[in-house]
Amino acid sequence: MSYQVENSAPAREERLKAGIAFGGTCKELKCCMKQGGCLNGANRSFSQTYGCQFTLSLGILNTIRNAVVIMHGPIGCGFCSTATIGTGKAFKRLRDPQADGTIWLSTNLDESAVIGGGEENLKETILFADKEYRPETILVVSSCVPALIGDDVDSIVENLQSDVAAKLVPVNCEGFKTKVMATAYDAAYNGIMKKLVDLPGEWRKLTETDKEKIDRDYRISRKVNIFNVGSMSRADELELARLLNGIGLEVTFLPCYSEPEDFSLSLEAVLNVSICGTHDDYYLQFLKERFNIPYIIDTIPIGRKNTDRWILKIAEFFHLEEEAKLLIKKENEILNESLNPFRKSLKGKKVFVSGGEVRILSTAEVLQDLSMEVVGFKGHHIDKFVEPIFESLADIDDVSINIATQHPFEQANIVRKLNPDVIVIHTGGNNITAKHGLPILPLFGPTYNYMGYSGVFEIARRLNRVIKNYQFNKNMKKYRVLPFKESWYEKDPYTYIKEG
Ligand code: SF4
Repeated sequence: MSYQVENSAPAREERLKAGIAFGGTCKELKCCMKQGGCLNGANRSFSQTYGCQFTLSLGILNTIRNAVVIMHGPIGCGFCSTATIGTGKAFKRLRDPQADGTIWLSTNLDESAVIGGGEENLKETILFADKEYRPETILVVSSCVPALIGDDVDSIVENLQSDVAAKLVPVNCEGFKTKVMATAYDAAYNGIMKKLVDLPGEWRKLTETDKEKIDRDYRISRKVNIFNVGSMSRADELELARLLNGIGLEVTFLPCYSEPEDFSLSLEAVLNVSICGTHDDYYLQFLKERFNIPYIIDTIPIGRKNTDRWILKIAEFFHLEEEAKLLIKKENEILNESLNPFRKSLKGKKVFVSGGEVRILSTAEVLQDLSMEVVGFKGHHIDKFVEPIFESLADIDDVSINIATQHPFEQANIVRKLNPDVIVIHTGGNNITAKHGLPILPLFGPTYNYMGYSGVFEIARRLNRVIKNYQFNKNMKKYRVLPFKESWYEKDPYTYIKEG
Protein backbone atom coordinates (compact mmCIF):
# COMPACT_ATOMS: atom_id res chain seq x y z
CA MET A 1 0.00 0.00 0.00
CA SER A 2 1.26 3.47 -0.81
CA TYR A 3 -0.03 6.29 1.39
CA GLN A 4 1.51 8.82 -0.98
CA VAL A 5 -1.22 8.45 -3.61
CA GLU A 6 -4.12 9.11 -1.28
CA ASN A 7 -5.59 12.60 -1.38
CA SER A 8 -7.00 12.21 2.08
CA ALA A 9 -6.55 9.81 4.96
CA PRO A 10 -9.07 6.98 5.27
CA ALA A 11 -11.44 7.04 8.25
CA ARG A 12 -10.27 4.90 11.14
CA GLU A 13 -13.60 3.05 11.23
CA GLU A 14 -12.41 1.37 8.04
CA ARG A 15 -8.61 1.44 8.38
CA LEU A 16 -8.31 0.24 11.98
CA LYS A 17 -11.81 -1.13 12.61
CA ALA A 18 -11.95 1.23 15.59
CA GLY A 19 -14.98 1.25 17.87
CA ILE A 20 -16.89 4.20 19.38
CA ALA A 21 -19.61 2.54 21.44
CA PHE A 22 -19.18 0.02 24.22
CA GLY A 23 -20.32 -0.46 27.79
CA GLY A 24 -19.30 -3.33 30.02
CA THR A 25 -16.23 -4.62 31.86
CA CYS A 26 -12.61 -4.68 30.74
CA LYS A 27 -12.82 -8.47 30.42
CA GLU A 28 -15.81 -8.18 28.08
CA LEU A 29 -14.06 -5.48 26.09
CA LYS A 30 -10.91 -7.57 25.66
CA CYS A 31 -13.09 -10.47 24.55
CA CYS A 32 -14.85 -8.25 21.97
CA MET A 33 -11.49 -7.00 20.70
CA LYS A 34 -10.35 -10.57 20.07
CA GLN A 35 -13.51 -11.33 18.14
CA GLY A 36 -13.05 -8.30 15.90
CA GLY A 37 -16.16 -6.98 14.14
CA CYS A 38 -18.59 -6.45 17.03
CA LEU A 39 -16.80 -3.35 18.40
CA ASN A 40 -16.39 -1.79 14.98
CA GLY A 41 -20.07 -2.17 14.13
CA ALA A 42 -21.49 -0.92 17.44
CA ASN A 43 -23.21 2.47 17.60
CA ARG A 44 -25.88 4.37 19.52
CA SER A 45 -29.59 4.88 18.89
CA PHE A 46 -29.16 8.26 20.62
CA SER A 47 -25.92 10.26 20.54
CA GLN A 48 -25.16 13.42 22.43
CA THR A 49 -21.79 14.52 21.02
CA TYR A 50 -18.98 13.53 18.70
CA GLY A 51 -15.61 15.09 18.09
CA CYS A 52 -14.74 16.89 14.87
CA GLN A 53 -11.57 15.76 13.10
CA PHE A 54 -11.05 19.25 11.64
CA THR A 55 -10.53 20.76 15.09
CA LEU A 56 -8.33 17.91 16.28
CA SER A 57 -6.13 18.19 13.16
CA LEU A 58 -5.52 21.78 14.17
CA GLY A 59 -4.11 20.42 17.42
CA ILE A 60 -1.05 19.37 15.38
CA LEU A 61 -1.12 21.90 12.55
CA ASN A 62 -1.40 25.01 14.74
CA THR A 63 1.87 24.06 16.41
CA ILE A 64 3.99 24.02 13.23
CA ARG A 65 6.47 26.91 13.31
CA ASN A 66 7.02 29.35 10.46
CA ALA A 67 3.62 28.47 9.01
CA VAL A 68 0.26 30.09 8.37
CA VAL A 69 -2.88 28.00 8.82
CA ILE A 70 -5.78 28.77 6.48
CA MET A 71 -9.04 27.37 7.76
CA HIS A 72 -11.13 26.87 4.65
CA GLY A 73 -14.71 26.95 5.88
CA PRO A 74 -17.26 29.04 7.74
CA ILE A 75 -15.86 31.36 10.39
CA GLY A 76 -16.95 29.09 13.25
CA CYS A 77 -14.85 26.10 12.16
CA GLY A 78 -11.60 26.16 14.09
CA PHE A 79 -12.70 28.96 16.37
CA CYS A 80 -11.65 26.76 19.29
CA SER A 81 -8.04 27.58 18.32
CA THR A 82 -8.46 30.72 20.40
CA ALA A 83 -8.17 28.47 23.46
CA THR A 84 -4.55 27.65 22.62
CA ILE A 85 -3.29 31.05 21.50
CA GLY A 86 -1.23 31.61 24.64
CA THR A 87 0.16 28.13 25.11
CA GLY A 88 0.86 27.72 21.38
CA LYS A 89 3.06 30.80 21.29
CA ALA A 90 4.77 30.02 24.59
CA PHE A 91 5.53 26.44 23.56
CA LYS A 92 6.88 27.45 20.17
CA ARG A 93 9.20 29.87 21.95
CA LEU A 94 10.49 27.09 24.17
CA ARG A 95 11.96 25.68 20.94
CA ASP A 96 12.78 28.97 19.23
CA PRO A 97 12.69 32.24 21.22
CA GLN A 98 11.99 34.19 17.99
CA ALA A 99 9.01 32.07 16.92
CA ASP A 100 5.65 33.69 16.12
CA GLY A 101 2.46 32.48 17.74
CA THR A 102 -0.09 30.62 15.64
CA ILE A 103 -1.12 32.71 12.63
CA TRP A 104 -4.44 31.58 11.20
CA LEU A 105 -6.88 32.95 8.68
CA SER A 106 -10.38 31.82 7.79
CA THR A 107 -11.85 31.90 4.29
CA ASN A 108 -15.10 32.79 6.05
CA LEU A 109 -17.45 30.92 3.72
CA ASP A 110 -20.96 32.38 3.86
CA GLU A 111 -24.27 31.54 2.19
CA SER A 112 -23.23 32.98 -1.19
CA ALA A 113 -19.97 31.02 -1.14
CA VAL A 114 -21.93 27.86 -0.38
CA ILE A 115 -24.00 28.47 -3.51
CA GLY A 116 -21.27 29.84 -5.80
CA GLY A 117 -18.29 27.87 -4.43
CA GLY A 118 -15.51 28.86 -2.05
CA GLU A 119 -12.61 28.60 -4.51
CA GLU A 120 -12.19 32.37 -5.04
CA ASN A 121 -12.16 32.97 -1.26
CA LEU A 122 -9.44 30.37 -0.91
CA LYS A 123 -7.25 31.74 -3.73
CA GLU A 124 -7.51 35.25 -2.33
CA THR A 125 -6.64 34.08 1.19
CA ILE A 126 -3.61 32.07 0.04
CA LEU A 127 -2.21 35.03 -1.91
CA PHE A 128 -2.83 37.35 1.04
CA ALA A 129 -1.16 34.96 3.53
CA ASP A 130 1.92 34.56 1.33
CA LYS A 131 2.35 38.30 0.75
CA GLU A 132 1.53 39.44 4.27
CA TYR A 133 3.36 36.87 6.40
CA ARG A 134 6.00 35.31 4.09
CA PRO A 135 5.79 31.93 5.85
CA GLU A 136 7.79 28.87 4.89
CA THR A 137 4.56 26.93 4.48
CA ILE A 138 0.82 27.57 4.23
CA LEU A 139 -1.38 24.80 5.58
CA VAL A 140 -4.79 24.81 3.88
CA VAL A 141 -7.12 22.96 6.22
CA SER A 142 -10.55 22.11 4.78
CA SER A 143 -13.68 21.80 6.91
CA CYS A 144 -17.04 20.19 6.08
CA VAL A 145 -18.42 22.91 3.82
CA PRO A 146 -15.80 22.81 0.99
CA ALA A 147 -16.22 19.04 0.86
CA LEU A 148 -20.02 19.34 0.70
CA ILE A 149 -20.05 21.99 -2.04
CA GLY A 150 -17.28 20.28 -4.03
CA ASP A 151 -14.38 22.76 -3.84
CA ASP A 152 -11.39 21.13 -5.55
CA VAL A 153 -8.89 22.25 -2.92
CA ASP A 154 -6.01 20.05 -4.10
CA SER A 155 -6.20 21.47 -7.63
CA ILE A 156 -6.43 25.08 -6.42
CA VAL A 157 -3.34 24.55 -4.30
CA GLU A 158 -1.48 22.83 -7.13
CA ASN A 159 -2.30 25.63 -9.60
CA LEU A 160 -1.38 28.42 -7.17
CA GLN A 161 1.90 26.89 -6.04
CA SER A 162 3.99 28.62 -8.73
CA ASP A 163 2.52 32.02 -7.75
CA VAL A 164 3.62 31.95 -4.12
CA ALA A 165 6.88 31.54 -2.22
CA ALA A 166 5.48 29.35 0.55
CA LYS A 167 5.07 25.60 0.18
CA LEU A 168 1.31 24.95 0.01
CA VAL A 169 0.01 21.97 1.95
CA PRO A 170 -3.62 20.88 1.53
CA VAL A 171 -5.11 19.01 4.49
CA ASN A 172 -8.45 17.35 3.88
CA CYS A 173 -10.11 16.84 7.25
CA GLU A 174 -13.82 17.57 6.94
CA GLY A 175 -15.48 16.92 10.27
CA PHE A 176 -18.40 14.80 9.04
CA LYS A 177 -16.21 12.15 7.41
CA THR A 178 -15.60 10.09 10.54
CA LYS A 179 -16.97 9.40 13.99
CA VAL A 180 -13.53 8.34 15.19
CA MET A 181 -12.08 11.74 16.00
CA ALA A 182 -8.51 10.37 16.03
CA THR A 183 -8.70 10.12 12.20
CA ALA A 184 -7.67 13.78 12.53
CA TYR A 185 -4.07 12.77 13.20
CA ASP A 186 -3.98 10.78 9.95
CA ALA A 187 -5.50 13.74 8.08
CA ALA A 188 -2.81 16.12 9.36
CA TYR A 189 -0.07 13.62 8.54
CA ASN A 190 -1.58 13.02 5.11
CA GLY A 191 -0.92 16.68 4.24
CA ILE A 192 2.61 16.45 5.66
CA MET A 193 3.29 13.28 3.65
CA LYS A 194 2.09 14.84 0.41
CA LYS A 195 4.13 18.02 0.61
CA LEU A 196 6.65 18.24 3.45
CA VAL A 197 8.54 14.93 3.38
CA ASP A 198 11.24 14.46 0.83
CA LEU A 199 14.79 13.21 0.64
CA PRO A 200 17.59 15.29 -0.86
CA GLY A 201 17.99 14.61 -4.59
CA GLU A 202 21.34 12.85 -4.15
CA TRP A 203 19.64 9.99 -2.31
CA ARG A 204 17.88 8.85 -5.46
CA LYS A 205 21.17 8.50 -7.35
CA LEU A 206 22.64 6.12 -4.77
CA THR A 207 23.09 2.44 -5.45
CA GLU A 208 21.68 -0.20 -3.13
CA THR A 209 25.17 -0.77 -1.65
CA ASP A 210 25.53 2.94 -0.91
CA LYS A 211 22.16 2.93 0.79
CA GLU A 212 23.15 -0.01 2.97
CA LYS A 213 26.31 1.82 4.01
CA ILE A 214 24.34 4.94 4.86
CA ASP A 215 21.85 2.83 6.81
CA ARG A 216 24.75 1.39 8.81
CA ASP A 217 26.23 4.84 9.46
CA TYR A 218 22.88 6.15 10.60
CA ARG A 219 22.57 3.21 12.95
CA ILE A 220 25.93 4.08 14.47
CA SER A 221 24.79 7.69 14.82
CA ARG A 222 21.92 6.57 17.07
CA LYS A 223 19.53 9.27 16.00
CA VAL A 224 15.96 8.61 17.08
CA ASN A 225 12.79 10.51 16.20
CA ILE A 226 10.21 10.61 18.96
CA PHE A 227 6.71 11.39 17.72
CA ASN A 228 5.28 13.74 20.30
CA VAL A 229 1.61 14.47 20.86
CA GLY A 230 -0.27 17.69 21.52
CA SER A 231 -1.09 16.59 25.06
CA MET A 232 2.61 16.39 25.96
CA SER A 233 4.45 19.21 27.63
CA ARG A 234 8.00 20.38 27.03
CA ALA A 235 8.75 18.97 30.49
CA ASP A 236 7.61 15.54 29.22
CA GLU A 237 9.97 15.86 26.25
CA LEU A 238 12.89 16.84 28.45
CA GLU A 239 12.23 13.85 30.73
CA LEU A 240 12.12 11.39 27.81
CA ALA A 241 15.21 12.97 26.24
CA ARG A 242 17.00 12.64 29.61
CA LEU A 243 16.20 8.92 29.74
CA LEU A 244 17.19 8.14 26.15
CA ASN A 245 20.30 10.33 26.34
CA GLY A 246 21.13 8.26 29.42
CA ILE A 247 21.59 5.16 27.24
CA GLY A 248 23.48 7.07 24.57
CA LEU A 249 20.77 8.00 22.06
CA GLU A 250 20.28 11.30 20.28
CA VAL A 251 16.66 12.42 20.25
CA THR A 252 14.54 14.68 18.05
CA PHE A 253 10.87 15.45 18.72
CA LEU A 254 8.27 15.99 16.02
CA PRO A 255 5.67 16.74 14.60
CA CYS A 256 4.39 19.22 17.22
CA TYR A 257 6.34 22.51 17.31
CA SER A 258 8.54 21.48 14.36
CA GLU A 259 9.71 23.65 11.48
CA PRO A 260 8.38 22.49 8.07
CA GLU A 261 11.87 21.41 6.98
CA ASP A 262 12.21 19.18 10.08
CA PHE A 263 10.03 16.56 8.39
CA SER A 264 12.61 16.00 5.67
CA LEU A 265 15.54 16.31 8.08
CA SER A 266 13.95 13.66 10.28
CA LEU A 267 14.60 11.10 7.53
CA GLU A 268 18.20 10.98 8.75
CA ALA A 269 17.15 9.11 11.89
CA VAL A 270 17.61 5.40 12.15
CA LEU A 271 14.47 4.72 14.16
CA ASN A 272 11.05 6.28 14.60
CA VAL A 273 9.44 5.82 17.99
CA SER A 274 5.83 6.45 18.80
CA ILE A 275 4.70 7.99 22.06
CA CYS A 276 1.16 6.82 21.40
CA GLY A 277 -0.05 4.50 18.62
CA THR A 278 -3.35 6.36 18.47
CA HIS A 279 -1.49 9.33 17.03
CA ASP A 280 1.02 8.20 14.48
CA ASP A 281 0.78 4.64 13.13
CA TYR A 282 -0.44 5.92 9.74
CA TYR A 283 2.61 8.16 9.31
CA LEU A 284 5.20 5.75 10.74
CA GLN A 285 4.01 3.00 8.41
CA PHE A 286 4.37 5.45 5.51
CA LEU A 287 7.97 6.30 6.54
CA LYS A 288 8.74 2.60 6.79
CA GLU A 289 7.33 1.76 3.38
CA ARG A 290 8.68 4.75 1.52
CA PHE A 291 11.98 5.50 3.26
CA ASN A 292 12.76 2.18 4.93
CA ILE A 293 12.94 3.66 8.44
CA PRO A 294 11.83 1.09 11.02
CA TYR A 295 9.52 2.09 13.84
CA ILE A 296 8.39 1.06 17.28
CA ILE A 297 4.79 1.42 18.34
CA ASP A 298 4.25 -0.22 21.67
CA THR A 299 3.23 1.36 24.92
CA ILE A 300 3.20 4.98 26.09
CA PRO A 301 5.81 6.05 28.68
CA ILE A 302 3.30 6.86 31.43
CA GLY A 303 3.68 4.81 34.61
CA ARG A 304 6.71 2.91 35.80
CA LYS A 305 6.02 -0.38 34.01
CA ASN A 306 5.07 1.34 30.78
CA THR A 307 8.16 3.57 30.90
CA ASP A 308 10.42 0.59 31.63
CA ARG A 309 8.94 -1.26 28.68
CA TRP A 310 9.12 1.74 26.33
CA ILE A 311 12.83 2.32 27.09
CA LEU A 312 13.68 -1.38 26.81
CA LYS A 313 11.99 -1.73 23.41
CA ILE A 314 14.08 1.16 22.06
CA ALA A 315 17.26 -0.14 23.72
CA GLU A 316 16.77 -3.60 22.17
CA PHE A 317 16.90 -2.07 18.70
CA PHE A 318 20.36 -0.64 19.42
CA HIS A 319 21.55 -3.63 21.50
CA LEU A 320 21.75 -1.37 24.54
CA GLU A 321 19.72 -3.62 26.86
CA GLU A 322 22.32 -3.72 29.64
CA GLU A 323 22.64 0.07 29.76
CA ALA A 324 18.84 0.38 29.76
CA LYS A 325 18.37 -2.15 32.57
CA LEU A 326 20.87 -0.30 34.75
CA LEU A 327 19.12 3.00 34.14
CA ILE A 328 15.67 1.52 34.77
CA LYS A 329 16.82 -0.09 38.03
CA LYS A 330 18.27 3.13 39.36
CA GLU A 331 15.28 5.27 38.32
CA ASN A 332 12.81 2.82 39.87
CA GLU A 333 14.68 2.69 43.16
CA ILE A 334 14.64 6.45 43.56
CA LEU A 335 11.04 6.86 42.39
CA ASN A 336 9.55 3.98 44.36
CA GLU A 337 10.82 5.38 47.62
CA SER A 338 9.66 8.90 46.82
CA LEU A 339 6.07 7.67 46.24
CA ASN A 340 5.62 6.21 49.72
CA PRO A 341 4.28 9.37 51.42
CA PHE A 342 1.67 9.75 48.65
CA ARG A 343 0.66 6.09 48.88
CA LYS A 344 -0.24 6.66 52.51
CA SER A 345 -2.71 9.44 51.74
CA LEU A 346 -4.07 8.01 48.46
CA LYS A 347 -4.38 4.35 49.47
CA GLY A 348 -7.78 2.80 48.70
CA LYS A 349 -9.25 5.92 47.07
CA LYS A 350 -11.60 4.98 44.22
CA VAL A 351 -10.82 6.60 40.86
CA PHE A 352 -12.74 7.04 37.61
CA VAL A 353 -10.49 7.77 34.58
CA SER A 354 -11.71 9.29 31.32
CA GLY A 355 -10.07 10.50 28.08
CA GLY A 356 -8.05 9.00 25.21
CA GLU A 357 -7.87 5.18 25.30
CA VAL A 358 -4.09 4.95 25.62
CA ARG A 359 -3.80 7.71 28.22
CA ILE A 360 -6.51 6.40 30.54
CA LEU A 361 -5.14 2.88 30.72
CA SER A 362 -1.53 3.98 31.18
CA THR A 363 -2.52 6.52 33.84
CA ALA A 364 -4.35 3.69 35.62
CA GLU A 365 -0.97 2.01 36.01
CA VAL A 366 0.22 5.04 38.00
CA LEU A 367 -2.95 5.02 40.10
CA GLN A 368 -2.50 1.35 40.95
CA ASP A 369 1.13 2.05 41.79
CA LEU A 370 -0.17 4.63 44.29
CA SER A 371 -2.37 1.95 45.92
CA MET A 372 -5.56 3.51 44.57
CA GLU A 373 -8.52 1.51 43.25
CA VAL A 374 -9.51 2.13 39.64
CA VAL A 375 -13.29 1.60 39.47
CA GLY A 376 -14.09 2.79 35.96
CA PHE A 377 -12.75 3.92 32.58
CA LYS A 378 -14.24 5.96 29.79
CA GLY A 379 -12.30 6.12 26.50
CA HIS A 380 -12.96 8.23 23.40
CA HIS A 381 -12.64 5.21 21.11
CA ILE A 382 -11.02 1.79 21.08
CA ASP A 383 -8.58 0.06 18.75
CA LYS A 384 -5.66 -2.40 18.84
CA PHE A 385 -3.16 0.09 20.32
CA VAL A 386 -4.40 -0.45 23.87
CA GLU A 387 -3.38 -4.12 23.96
CA PRO A 388 0.17 -3.69 25.38
CA ILE A 389 -1.11 -1.22 27.97
CA PHE A 390 -3.71 -3.64 29.31
CA GLU A 391 -0.76 -5.89 30.18
CA SER A 392 0.60 -3.36 32.69
CA LEU A 393 -2.58 -3.38 34.78
CA ALA A 394 -3.48 -5.75 37.63
CA ASP A 395 -6.98 -7.03 38.46
CA ILE A 396 -8.98 -4.93 36.05
CA ASP A 397 -11.14 -7.61 34.45
CA ASP A 398 -14.21 -6.57 36.43
CA VAL A 399 -13.59 -2.83 36.15
CA SER A 400 -16.26 -0.91 34.21
CA ILE A 401 -15.30 0.58 30.82
CA ASN A 402 -17.35 2.84 28.58
CA ILE A 403 -16.26 3.76 25.05
CA ALA A 404 -17.76 7.12 24.17
CA THR A 405 -16.51 10.32 22.61
CA GLN A 406 -17.75 12.82 25.19
CA HIS A 407 -21.40 11.72 25.77
CA PRO A 408 -21.59 13.32 29.25
CA PHE A 409 -25.06 11.81 29.89
CA GLU A 410 -23.53 8.31 29.95
CA GLN A 411 -20.68 9.52 32.11
CA ALA A 412 -23.03 11.16 34.66
CA ASN A 413 -24.99 7.92 35.04
CA ILE A 414 -21.83 5.80 35.38
CA VAL A 415 -20.19 8.12 37.90
CA ARG A 416 -23.34 8.13 40.05
CA LYS A 417 -23.32 4.31 40.09
CA LEU A 418 -19.57 3.86 40.65
CA ASN A 419 -19.35 6.59 43.29
CA PRO A 420 -15.60 7.32 42.96
CA ASP A 421 -13.62 9.50 45.37
CA VAL A 422 -11.72 11.26 42.58
CA ILE A 423 -11.96 11.68 38.81
CA VAL A 424 -9.03 11.88 36.38
CA ILE A 425 -10.31 13.30 33.11
CA HIS A 426 -9.38 14.84 29.75
CA THR A 427 -9.21 18.60 30.15
CA GLY A 428 -12.03 19.06 27.63
CA GLY A 429 -14.43 17.27 29.98
CA ASN A 430 -13.53 19.10 33.17
CA ASN A 431 -16.39 21.60 32.97
CA ILE A 432 -19.42 19.31 33.22
CA THR A 433 -17.52 16.82 35.32
CA ALA A 434 -16.87 19.45 37.99
CA LYS A 435 -20.63 19.34 38.69
CA HIS A 436 -20.18 15.90 40.27
CA GLY A 437 -18.59 17.80 43.16
CA LEU A 438 -15.53 15.53 43.30
CA PRO A 439 -11.82 16.30 43.15
CA ILE A 440 -10.56 16.26 39.56
CA LEU A 441 -7.07 15.76 38.22
CA PRO A 442 -6.66 16.71 34.53
CA LEU A 443 -5.54 13.67 32.52
CA PHE A 444 -2.87 15.86 30.94
CA GLY A 445 -1.88 19.48 31.02
CA PRO A 446 0.19 21.56 28.64
CA THR A 447 2.61 22.55 31.37
CA TYR A 448 2.53 19.34 33.45
CA ASN A 449 5.03 16.53 33.38
CA TYR A 450 3.13 13.22 33.28
CA MET A 451 5.59 11.10 31.27
CA GLY A 452 8.65 9.13 32.30
CA TYR A 453 9.63 8.53 35.90
CA SER A 454 9.44 12.16 36.97
CA GLY A 455 5.91 12.19 35.50
CA VAL A 456 4.78 9.46 37.92
CA PHE A 457 6.00 11.59 40.80
CA GLU A 458 4.20 14.65 39.41
CA ILE A 459 0.89 12.79 39.03
CA ALA A 460 1.20 11.58 42.64
CA ARG A 461 2.02 15.06 43.90
CA ARG A 462 -0.85 16.72 42.04
CA LEU A 463 -3.39 14.04 43.01
CA ASN A 464 -2.39 14.38 46.63
CA ARG A 465 -3.05 18.09 46.40
CA VAL A 466 -6.44 17.96 44.61
CA ILE A 467 -7.99 15.48 47.02
CA LYS A 468 -7.20 17.82 49.91
CA ASN A 469 -8.98 20.86 48.54
CA TYR A 470 -11.83 20.67 46.04
CA GLN A 471 -14.18 23.22 47.52
CA PHE A 472 -14.74 24.82 44.12
CA ASN A 473 -16.20 21.58 42.73
CA LYS A 474 -18.32 21.10 45.85
CA ASN A 475 -19.82 24.53 45.21
CA MET A 476 -20.36 23.65 41.56
CA LYS A 477 -22.38 20.61 42.58
CA LYS A 478 -24.44 22.71 44.98
CA TYR A 479 -25.22 25.62 42.67
CA ARG A 480 -24.88 24.17 39.14
CA VAL A 481 -26.57 20.80 39.16
CA LEU A 482 -26.18 18.36 36.30
CA PRO A 483 -29.06 18.68 33.81
CA PHE A 484 -30.23 15.04 33.85
CA LYS A 485 -33.50 13.74 35.30
CA GLU A 486 -33.59 11.19 38.13
CA SER A 487 -35.31 8.76 35.76
CA TRP A 488 -32.12 8.69 33.63
CA TYR A 489 -29.98 7.65 36.60
CA GLU A 490 -32.31 4.74 37.25
CA LYS A 491 -31.64 3.36 33.77
CA ASP A 492 -28.73 1.32 32.49
CA PRO A 493 -26.07 3.85 31.32
CA TYR A 494 -25.66 1.82 28.13
CA THR A 495 -29.37 1.88 27.22
CA TYR A 496 -28.67 3.56 23.87
CA ILE A 497 -25.73 1.46 22.74
CA LYS A 498 -26.56 -0.87 19.88
CA GLU A 499 -24.33 -3.92 19.51
CA GLY A 500 -22.46 -4.43 16.27
S1 SF4 B 1 -18.81 22.28 10.33
FE1 SF4 B 1 -17.62 20.39 10.20
S2 SF4 B 1 -15.46 21.02 10.27
FE2 SF4 B 1 -16.70 22.77 10.98
S3 SF4 B 1 -16.69 22.51 13.21
FE3 SF4 B 1 -18.55 21.51 12.44
S4 SF4 B 1 -17.97 19.35 12.16
FE4 SF4 B 1 -16.07 20.53 12.36
